Amino acid sequence: MAKQELWHGIPRKDIPWYPTVGADTCIGCTLCFATCGRSVYDMLDNLAVVVNPMNCMVGCSTCATVCPVQAIHFPDRSLVWKLEREHKIFKIVRQESEEKKAKLDAARARAAAEDAIAKLTTRARIEIAGQLSEKRCLTQLDELVQDRPFDLVNLRLEIPTVQGMRTNTPSRMTFEITSTEQEDIGGYLSEVRDWIRRNGWVLISEQHL
Ligand code: SF4
Ligand code: SF4
Repeated sequence: MAKQELWHGIPRKDIPWYPTVGADTCIGCTLCFATCGRSVYDMLDNLAVVVNPMNCMVGCSTCATVCPVQAIHFPDRSLVWKLEREHKIFKIVRQESEEKKAKLDAARARAAAEDAIAKLTTRARIEIAGQLSEKRCLTQLDELVQDRPFDLVNLRLEIPTVQGMRTNTPSRMTFEITSTEQEDIGGYLSEVRDWIRRNGWVLISEQHL
């Protein structure tokens, strides 16, 4: 039997817990129909009708509580307490609770891990200016990523004038730093800033993506 057809080990079909509607009292306000999340009700000829009684959650009586004219009735709650005793459900309940707790703990741990990853900076866009057109600039960039879990992507070097290269006209370069292994690049960014400083270039902007 499918788990959802059981109520803590008791076949749901053996539990007579469901609402009955007094057709003479119902004013067709639809509140029970709109409130119940288990499709127990339908509205027919402007009256609430119980169409799926066994979908009702054992012990729930929300629709009766909200009905403005008290047209909805349930069996006495002692029926549920009697079932609990007779079927000795608490061994199963404890087992179900442990499974539920384990799932909740796992979901919380997963959410915490995802949160921690989301807080990591794994990509940043850097914009620098200076005498960047020298060949050694590209060589140094290559050295920066060699055997490291980082890469420099979308690199753009803008040299305004080739003639100007001879007279040290500043050029501009943008690139993105990314981690190839989803690591935090915070420490690596410090190295890149030092590298920019050592070369006498100017860090125009640093944007964490
Ligand atoms: S809440 Fe009460 S009055 Fe409103 S439709 Fe349901 S049974 Fe009828
Ligand atoms: S008692 Fe709860 S589950 Fe059952 S019909 Fe009413 S609202 Fe739906």
